[in-house]
Amino acid sequence: MSNLSSERILSVLREEIKNYRPAGEAARQGAVLRCGDGVATVYGLPQAMYGELVTFETGQAGMVLNLGEKDMGVLLLGSEEGVREGTHVTCAGEPVSVPVGEAMLGRVLDGLGRPIDGKGEIKTAERRPVENKAPGVVTREEVNVPMQTGILAIDAMFPIGRGQRELIIGDRQTGKTAIAVDAILNQKGQDMICIYVAIGQKASTVAKIVGTLERHGAMDYSVVVSATASDPAPLQYIAPYTGAALGEYFMDQGKDVLIVYDDLSKHAQAYRAISLLLHRPPGREAYPGDVFYLHSRLLERACRRSKEYGGGSMTALPIIETLAGDISAYIPTNVISITDGQIFLESSLFFSGQRPAVNVGLSVSRVGGKAQTKAMKSVAGTLRVDLAQYREMEAFAQFSSDLDEATKSMLAYGKSLYDLLKQPLYHPMSLSKEVVLLWAAGQKLLQDIPAEKLEAFKDGLMDHLAQHAPGVLEAIHETKKLDEATEAALREAVTGYLAGWAS
Ligand code: ATP
Ligand code: MG
Repeated sequence: MSNLSSERILSVLREEIKNYRPAGEAARQGAVLRCGDGVATVYGLPQAMYGELVTFETGQAGMVLNLGEKDMGVLLLGSEEGVREGTHVTCAGEPVSVPVGEAMLGRVLDGLGRPIDGKGEIKTAERRPVENKAPGVVTREEVNVPMQTGILAIDAMFPIGRGQRELIIGDRQTGKTAIAVDAILNQKGQDMICIYVAIGQKASTVAKIVGTLERHGAMDYSVVVSATASDPAPLQYIAPYTGAALGEYFMDQGKDVLIVYDDLSKHAQAYRAISLLLHRPPGREAYPGDVFYLHSRLLERACRRSKEYGGGSMTALPIIETLAGDISAYIPTNVISITDGQIFLESSLFFSGQRPAVNVGLSVSRVGGKAQTKAMKSVAGTLRVDLAQYREMEAFAQFSSDLDEATKSMLAYGKSLYDLLKQPLYHPMSLSKEVVLLWAAGQKLLQDIPAEKLEAFKDGLMDHLAQHAPGVLEAIHETKKLDEATEAALREAVTGYLAGWAS
């Protein structure tokens, strides 16, 4: 009798143990097995979700990235001091999130949205998850409002629209960051919020960029998110998503946002380091298999919302660094295929003095054409073809000594166009200036101006117009068109200035 009952008790116990599912607090507790290089292996946490926030007994935060049967791979979002075998870990029950709010404008933040500029605490009411699903197709609208970069070569040939993703790609030191910074400077008074995310750069480089933005009064409408090369890889990995979450906050209020990711090559490297530490299998160039998804889910978050969904937009300018101009490497091809076009910067052009060093043949903007203003379209229509023709003829002309007049004039015209596209640092142009200069070049009025005097000529011409024909600049600015009356007035004013210039 007693044997039977103990048998039963045992079987009930066995059954209970088999069906035991930890609930409540117990399911949220775990302990560190080992920790190093910013990654901790944690035992327990049976209910943890991917991307969930966990806190260590020591106060540090972490993010669950690997879900194993018995253990988890957790990224440490901060120093690993004090975290060792046996340290208790608790799940927060929510994904990793960052604070967002208006108060962040003008500030410099770390990869998790905490201020690092010494200007005190930031008071925000809201938090947003760093990883967020990209807006669905029905909530989006066509990209057809221009995002003027103020860089003549780009606005004329590779126009960017609000909500577009345009890649800036090129070797090191070819002026990639300069283009992004110029685009931010040009947003002054354009009702645009700019977010500059620095990933894996030197702290001194970031400080210089912040200084430039401050000097030009651009910090009033900008936020800098910075995870420098000396920050741990997890912070570099998370920084662009933090920037995107902040951008989405503003976009959801119906605002227009410009976000720069400088650069995603270093982001991919940080992710590769993390993945190897998490023992994920390495694939091509030792990057993990999901490195495409790393960038596609980030860049898909940039879009233009339809009116019913607030009408905000987020324009993304990711930057990729190439090695010896090789745009067919793994990460460059990935990001080229995710974005809506690329501005390819070439070292040889840069060193020959053609700055910004935009390679006209390899650059493209796939959706921006719809966003280009009528005024710009009317003056920039044949620019790409003219430049291509010049390049071809220039190579050919090297081998022949006597050229006919037609070829000579074509070469002179092409050269004047290339000279026109040179633009000094931090001098973004207004739409009316771009249109006037392109119109003058198209009318072959700039060919006789020596290249070294062109910059002074441009400024002089704009001053002259502002004084003697302010209506022209206003008309272009207001109507975004170059109608016949405006063109006639422009012709008269430019001819007048040219006569004075020559004498
Ligand atoms: P890195 O690979 O180091 O990030 P980068 O491609 O971002 O470099 P920048 O830092 O933008 O390049 O520019 C490199 C240098 O070229 C800087 O010293 C900058 O002052 C100069 N430069 C960039 N654009 C121009 C320009 N349009 N005119 C004159 N100088 C320029
Ligand atoms: Mg740079």
